[in-house]
Amino acid sequence: MAEKRDYYEVLGVNKNATDEELKKAFRKLAKKYHPDANPDNKEEAERKFKEVNEAYEVLSDKQKRQMYDQFGFDGPQGFGGQGGGYYSYGSGFDGFGGFSDFGDFGDLGDIFSSFFGGSSSRSRSSNGVRKGADLKVNLDITFEEAYSGVEKEISINRNEKCKSCNGSGARRGTTADKCSVCKGTGKIRQVVTTPFGQMSTQKVCTHCGGSGKVIKEPCPDCRGKGILKKSVKLKVKIPEGIDEGQTIILRGEGEPGTNGGPNGDLYIVIHIKRHSIYTRKAEHVLCEVPITFTGATLGTELEIPMVDGTKEKYRIPEGTQTGTRFTIKNKGFKSVNANWRGDFIFTVIVQIPKKLTKEQRDIITELAKTMNEQPPIKRRGIFG
Ligand SMILES: [Zn+2]
Ligand SMILES: [Zn+2]
Repeated sequence: MAEKRDYYEVLGVNKNATDEELKKAFRKLAKKYHPDANPDNKEEAERKFKEVNEAYEVLSDKQKRQMYDQFGFDGPQGFGGQGGGYYSYGSGFDGFGGFSDFGDFGDLGDIFSSFFGGSSSRSRSSNGVRKGADLKVNLDITFEEAYSGVEKEISINRNEKCKSCNGSGARRGTTADKCSVCKGTGKIRQVVTTPFGQMSTQKVCTHCGGSGKVIKEPCPDCRGKGILKKSVKLKVKIPEGIDEGQTIILRGEGEPGTNGGPNGDLYIVIHIKRHSIYTRKAEHVLCEVPITFTGATLGTELEIPMVDGTKEKYRIPEGTQTGTRFTIKNKGFKSVNANWRGDFIFTVIVQIPKKLTKEQRDIITELAKTMNEQPPIKRRGIFG
């Protein structure tokens, strides 16, 4: 084993592999190369098995993976060996005899993690190429805006390419020099002697931090970073029918990625302000409509204000009781995901007048004489 193989190559995954992909690749290969599964070729299998374990042990650990991505095999701390060199992972690696006890490989990843003191936290980094962080903002809209849909302008703070230096980090009018140490490649090849022989590794050039460039005169605006915190205005299209707590995702509008990585995303969480008249239940609009007691008694035509500002005429029948619900079809919220609408459901509340003019009082008194003093009692109530 003159030259160490790249860990990603060992596991057969690409540099952006997720934890899940790593785990899957590892399990497959660990099964394949398990020494007990290869009785005819035990030595070779053991070597491969070890290689796979080692790759997974590093890549499944967020910190170690980051170090590996940044520095190659020759991490500044010798990878968990505390300066003791890359191969001194601890006691775990030589105890292969014990592994045959694991009849089922289902949890190998977890077993290895605890074995080597690793943790399988998430990381998407690879060679310093990193997706920018996602951002989240809350956005308040009105009930009517949720009903009809709306375009809003929002303001967020995020890092942006510095305009003064166009992201180069070098003062305007100057340019960054090619790094003399790595000759602009950002990487340095090293030959390291290990107990297994010599191996050639690549590590990120510490002189330029892997960029291949050295800034002599940093841009005064961004202090050489090439990015600046900025307030950015963005237009957001909010679809009609959106509900409380739903999220709109603007891809690529989060923090910028590093070393050519993609931008993060922007999550906009919608909050809908309370309305004084309407409430929402699923895709239905609910409201209460006060009516006069004469309207309730004789029947009447109502003009009901809809959420979109239009009015709907609705005839309620004579003898309508307070609390009766009526439905106007398809005047509720549009479903965000499907092509249908909820209904507008209103409940009538019969208003009993609190003050009467003398004339009104006389009329009602006359009316009262024509009616039974006691309203009809439901049969169940007394005779039931
Ligand atoms: Zn700048
Ligand atoms: Zn360099």
